[in-house]
Amino acid sequence: MSRSTSYDVVVVGAGNAALCAAIAAKEGGANVLVLEKGPVEKRGGNSFFTDGAIRVAYEDLQSIRQVVTDLTDEQAEHIVMPEYKESDYYEDLMRVTAGKSDPSLAKQLVSKSYETLVWMKDQGITFELNYDNQSFEQEGKRHFWGGLPVKTVDKGVGLMKQLFDRVNKLGIDIWYSSRAVKLVTENEGVTGIVVEKENGAVTVNAHSVILACGGFEANKEMRSEFIGEEWEAAIVRGTEFNTGDGISMALAVGAQKYGQWSGCHSIGTDYNAPKVGDFTKPGDIFKKHSYPYSVMINKDGHRFVDEGADFRNYTYAKYGREILKQPDHIAYQIYDAQVRHMLRKEYDLEEATCYQANTLGELVNLLPDVNKEQFLKTIEEYNAAVQEGDYNPTEKDGKGTNGLALPKSNWALRIEKGPFYAFPVTCGITFSFGGLLVNKEGQVLDKEQQPIRGLFAAGEMVGGIFYENYPGGSGLMSGAVYGKLAGTSAVQFASMNGAETAAN
Ligand SMILES: Cc1cc2nc3c(=O)[nH]c(=O)nc-3n(C[C@H](O)[C@H](O)[C@H](O)COP(=O)(O)OP(=O)(O)OC[C@H]3O[C@@H](n4cnc5c(N)ncnc54)[C@H](O)[C@@H]3O)c2cc1C
Repeated sequence: MSRSTSYDVVVVGAGNAALCAAIAAKEGGANVLVLEKGPVEKRGGNSFFTDGAIRVAYEDLQSIRQVVTDLTDEQAEHIVMPEYKESDYYEDLMRVTAGKSDPSLAKQLVSKSYETLVWMKDQGITFELNYDNQSFEQEGKRHFWGGLPVKTVDKGVGLMKQLFDRVNKLGIDIWYSSRAVKLVTENEGVTGIVVEKENGAVTVNAHSVILACGGFEANKEMRSEFIGEEWEAAIVRGTEFNTGDGISMALAVGAQKYGQWSGCHSIGTDYNAPKVGDFTKPGDIFKKHSYPYSVMINKDGHRFVDEGADFRNYTYAKYGREILKQPDHIAYQIYDAQVRHMLRKEYDLEEATCYQANTLGELVNLLPDVNKEQFLKTIEEYNAAVQEGDYNPTEKDGKGTNGLALPKSNWALRIEKGPFYAFPVTCGITFSFGGLLVNKEGQVLDKEQQPIRGLFAAGEMVGGIFYENYPGGSGLMSGAVYGKLAGTSAVQFASMNGAETAAN
């Protein structure tokens, strides 16, 4: 006989979106249960693996100081912080998604971003300035680029620890190793959820269910069916548990699909990175983003992209995909001693796979199954094609190659000074873009665009915001904004439907 229990609001998942939803629902006075598929030591979803960079619209340094509270006046005097208005955020979102982001969902994300960040701070999340990747030093001042100056202290690990601390403090129940498998419906509304626990199935009756359990990036079959066959081979950069369960459960009760189901975010990552995210090695340590200073060569010995087409921000997502198309899904980033010191710090970690040799001939001998002759010929041709000119990695310097069928357009230096280095890379999927149609309040809509009673969604499972690419830091912000909105909407719905919450 299956067992049952009751809550006002059930939240499926325990990542950033889910915990923001749970906290907002609890603030509204609801009795809340969080379900997490993973065991306690693997909790926190993709959010746990992030760099903690979170994109927000703001006016000036003063508004940033409302959330980065430990900045002293003296430090602040040395900081130049350009404004990043809601319209800037909106334009960036539209630009990187080729104008396809749903305007209504995009506006909601952007316009709620700042107040949501302040709300997170009030819940005990600590933020700091993102000095490493988002600022540069000039004439004694720290200049920030707009949009992404804020990150959580101790990356995604810190974010999730502080969210769990808050959830525990508020007395929200969490069940680990508890996989939600099926929504229960009655009179065309959702009235509960079936959960598989280690000792059997449990039905949880609820006034509202919030699905915040990620996309389908960790599901080989779904990747292959919806994104493309070659995606079966991709490394999963984050949690192994985001296998599309929430999306499938919602579709089964009549929800409408939305967004770019054939799309995902991906990057070039260390070839020997774990096949799925290792919870003992979080912090996004396997990415390999310095390729604009390299030539990238596949096993057949050929280049396959213009490594210097643009700054990494604008090419890394599509180049991850290109690596996946290469033989055995592998490529080598080749550097020489002239640029080795300029590579990002991930290249120096003990987790980084690197081959090193004093000559290119010795280097290629170290690389498994590579066409050696073609490899050396490609580098020779490339070196011969490199044009003279001023080399300047801080701008698109136009120092490119001439006469190659596949040019390198900027930052082309000859690969000539030993030692030489080869970093093997493959493609790592970050998250899938296809999801569900929700309205601005986080209610899941059916095929007639009508809300499915009692059903809400947030985070990666919301379709229609990201297409082709996403502006860095928007994944966490989308989860926080729609998580909070879904939590608030769910508790309102619950109180209208008989729950004894603080809202009624
Ligand atoms: C390596 C890496 C680095 C990143 N860096 C950044 C960054 O710096 N900034 C940024 O904005 N974004 C970043 N992202 C993207 C970001 O992680 C996501 O956009 C965001 O965290 C998604 O949050 P979420 O709450 O929707 O999903 P998740 O955090 O993945 O949470 C989903 C949860 O649902 C659980 N779950 C799944 N199925 C079930 C089920 N059936 N029952 C119960 N529970 C279930 C999972 O176990 C998980 O805990 C990065 C992603 C990766 C992988």
